[in-house]
Amino acid sequence: MPELPEVEALTHFLDERVRGRRVDTVQLLSFAALKTFDPPLDALKGRELRGCTRRGKFLALQAETLYLVAHLARAGWVRWRPELEIKPGKLGRSPLALRVRLDDGSGMELTEQGTEKRLSIYVVRSLDDVPGIAELGVDPFGDGFDAATLGRLLAGESGQLKHALTDQRLLAGVGNAYSDEALHAARLSPFRKASSLDAEEVERLHAALLEVLGDAVQRSQGLPLTDLKAEKKTGLRVHGRTGQACPVCGDTVREVAFATRSLQYCPTCQTGGRVLADRRLSRLLK
Ligand SMILES: [Zn+2]
Repeated sequence: MPELPEVEALTHFLDERVRGRRVDTVQLLSFAALKTFDPPLDALKGRELRGCTRRGKFLALQAETLYLVAHLARAGWVRWRPELEIKPGKLGRSPLALRVRLDDGSGMELTEQGTEKRLSIYVVRSLDDVPGIAELGVDPFGDGFDAATLGRLLAGESGQLKHALTDQRLLAGVGNAYSDEALHAARLSPFRKASSLDAEEVERLHAALLEVLGDAVQRSQGLPLTDLKAEKKTGLRVHGRTGQACPVCGDTVREVAFATRSLQYCPTCQTGGRVLADRRLSRLLK
């Protein structure tokens, strides 16, 4: 799933290419993906694009007084076409959700792989008209994200650290992968109670979040969109690396699986050597 660093890279990439261009054609291929109906998608036609920005994991193209917003969810992505052809959509399993062609013939395609269709597209007059944007919490790259702020956010949470870090209403842009990475870098268990961290642990987590996200943004800068996902994978130390050796201590990276996702951690670095119960497995054994 694209998280803050990937969406940041997509935003930069698109901003350079769309700024000052006009929208020539908009073609919706996945009707379920469009979450708004007023203003209509066609209202974008002929408008000048003023740039592309990021809010959390949302990507927003400004078209004069309107915004075209996309949330890529788990399997969504952006393809850039120097020459974008508008062809009739194929019925069935096409990953294409939306095409936007610009006045110079270039354009972008929003795609979503897989069967779980979660990609969301909005056309709005104000970014806060998108419910998920209106309720976003603090952006780790925004002003005011210091250790004290993180401490305050976590202190108000009754749940586990992993859950708190991926809650978009607390922290905007951190998802499953980078929360695993930040917890590993901070040597904290994903299942610690969020409000139980002491000041030193909060400092460590704050530094780890900035380091992990900052590194990922730096590595993805200037890469072609097709290389971004591979780049994300190569930079991860524990996420998606179940069974491999922890690059810090050499212990085996473990996983806790839930219904539709899983988290990874290193027992030696994060849980005092304890192997946490795999939820899926323990349910089967009952
Ligand atoms: Zn380790």
